Amino acid sequence: MTSTTHTRSARFDLRARDLTPGGVHSNVRLGGPRVCFDRGEGAWLYDIDGNDYVDYLLGQGPSLLGHAAPAVNAVVAREARRGSVFGSQHVLENEAGELFLDTVGWAERVRFGLTGTEADQAALRLARAATGRTKFVRFEGTYHGWLDNVLVTSVDGRIRPASAGQLAHHLDETYFLPYNDVAALEKAFANHDDIAAVIVEPVMCNSAAIQPRDGFLDEVRRLCDRHGSVLIFDEVITGFRVALGGAAEKYGVTPDLAVYGKAMAGGWPVSALAGSAALMDQLTAGVVHSGTFNSSVPACAAVIATLTELRQAPPYERIEAHGGTLMRKIGELGAAHGVPLRVQGLPVAFHASFGDPRTIHHHAELEAIDTAGYAKFVEVLVGHGIWVAPRGIWYVSAAHGERELNAVVDRLDSALAAET
Ligand code: PLP
Repeated sequence: MTSTTHTRSARFDLRARDLTPGGVHSNVRLGGPRVCFDRGEGAWLYDIDGNDYVDYLLGQGPSLLGHAAPAVNAVVAREARRGSVFGSQHVLENEAGELFLDTVGWAERVRFGLTGTEADQAALRLARAATGRTKFVRFEGTYHGWLDNVLVTSVDGRIRPASAGQLAHHLDETYFLPYNDVAALEKAFANHDDIAAVIVEPVMCNSAAIQPRDGFLDEVRRLCDRHGSVLIFDEVITGFRVALGGAAEKYGVTPDLAVYGKAMAGGWPVSALAGSAALMDQLTAGVVHSGTFNSSVPACAAVIATLTELRQAPPYERIEAHGGTLMRKIGELGAAHGVPLRVQGLPVAFHASFGDPRTIHHHAELEAIDTAGYAKFVEVLVGHGIWVAPRGIWYVSAAHGERELNAVVDRLDSALAAET
């Protein structure tokens, strides 16, 4: 960190606010510190004022191989010379599809798209078509995109639409249940025969990185089978991150459909919907899924390069070691400064906040921790050259090594000293 001035960033922001609402192109970026970055390289970000940051946000997760990973970007640059979209097939599609399915391991078909949001919608639509039922179960605290039937917030413990203008009645399609609660799911199935699907983030990275209790995902699988519902894993965060084969591999539970995004393409915008042939082939028999930019040449090139790199040099042990050490150091530094910094989750994606150190198992327990206080502390972290999300998630990449560990520990130490 060479300087903590943000003069140029502030000037940039003023201009941006005249051009785009709030100065940002996604509402997720409205809150928290505002910095204008010049570039990212590996696990580092560089802003236009000359400050550097150890990055544990990774663009909300995608840069699993680090920013501007040469192994990916060189292939994308080379292949993009062919063009981008042709409104038909192109020569990279089969290679990307084969590599993807082989890496995921359990799925028979894949459709590429652009965002997790749209792929989640396609999954729900397929489930409704296959079962002839209309509703779906999801869990409190998960995120499945920003469209009307899935966007929620919790006010005084009650689920509400999160946006003005949102068609609130679309949420009537949903039964909201506490995560990690098998009895609640059993009860929902006993009381309702209209459940087309259960959609679950196998690890609740959007909610304190809550992990599934032993056997929880197996029970969800068993209940879906017993009641003829489709099990959808939303692996937008966990896919290729928690293991090469995602959460399905890590927890040994096979869904019927799964949605991928973020880490699958080294920072390039690609999502995927994958599943059994029987379910997916409905896309040729009346169920619609489309998109102008789906499976573009750069997208397929990015998928091929990213998955090839992850398969040839799996970074998972290194990432686990880095993340595990960092989680421990965060706890130790918090204790040394008398700040109740708590962490939980997986070393590849963990959650930090202030408060009671006991592990949280479902969303309602988040009330016991001080997420707002931590969000304010993130401004101090950013001032000390650590780029993280105000909502508490820390993502670790293959580019985080010893240098980054030393830097983040030093900087966190200074930030905590400034806080106390
Ligand atoms: N599902 C999960 C679990 C996510 O975390 C996200 C985004 O953060 C989405 C779906 C939506 O993906 P996208 O932002 O690509 O639309």
